Amino acid sequence: MRKIVIAIDGYSACGKSSTAKEVASQLGYSYIDSGAMYRAVTLYFHQNYVTLDNPKEINKAIDNMTISFIFNERKVASETYLNGLNVEEEIRKMYISNQVSQVSAIPEVRKNMVSQQRKLGKKKGVVMDGRDIGSNVFPDAELKVFMRANLQVRAERRQAELLEKGQLVPIPEIEENLLSRDKMDSERKENPLVIPKDAYILDTSELTLPEQVDYVLQLATEKMIKHDV
Ligand code: C5P
Repeated sequence: MRKIVIAIDGYSACGKSSTAKEVASQLGYSYIDSGAMYRAVTLYFHQNYVTLDNPKEINKAIDNMTISFIFNERKVASETYLNGLNVEEEIRKMYISNQVSQVSAIPEVRKNMVSQQRKLGKKKGVVMDGRDIGSNVFPDAELKVFMRANLQVRAERRQAELLEKGQLVPIPEIEENLLSRDKMDSERKENPLVIPKDAYILDTSELTLPEQVDYVLQLATEKMIKHDV
C-alpha cells in the first residue's frame, strides 16, 4: 500500500506522543516527536544563555546546534540527541516545559525546525506529532488528527509520566504549565496551534490508549486504501 503522512496535533498532554508512537510502530512507519525538537532548542538556549530577543544570537545558536534522533528497531524515534549528547531525560523536565513555548514562538527557531521536519517526512511513511504539523509542516498530509482532552485528565496523565521518571510535580503546577503553554501556542504569530479544517477531532478524556490507537489506525487504513487507487 502507498505510504502516507499522518499528522497528529493537539493541546499539551492529550496523549499525542503515546498514540503516534504506537500507530507508527504498528504500521512500520517512522515516528517523529516535533515537540522534542523544540525542547532540545530550549535546553541549548538555557545552557548557553541565549537572549531570546536577539535574532543574531539566536541564528548563531541554531547554526551551532544539531538535533537528531536515535530510532529503535521499529523506526520509532525513542531518544533525542543534542550535539551528540542524549538529552531525552533532561528535555522532559519541568524547567524546560516552563520555557519551551516562549522559545518555540521565535520565528527563526520555527523556520529552522519546520525545514528539518519537512526533510524528515519527505519520503512519507511517517507519523509526526506536534502543534502545527497538519496546518503548516505537512498541509497536504493524507491524515490529520487533532487531539484534545479535559484538563484534569491531562494533568493526571502528565503527573504519572513524570513520576515514572522520578519527578514528583503537584497537579496545580502541571495544570498551570499546560494552560499557559496552550495559550501561548495558540496565540503566537508564527504557525499557531489551530485545528486544521480537514482534521479528525479526537477527544481522549474517556479513552484508553488502545482505543486511541485503534481510532487512528482505522482512519489511516481508510486513507491508505483511498490513496492507493
Ligand atoms: O509536544 P510537547 O508538549 O513536548 O511540545 C513542547 C512545546 O513545543 C509545545 O508546548 C510548543 O510550544 C512547542 N511545539 C511547537 N510546534 C510543534 C511541536 C511543539 O511549537 N510542532
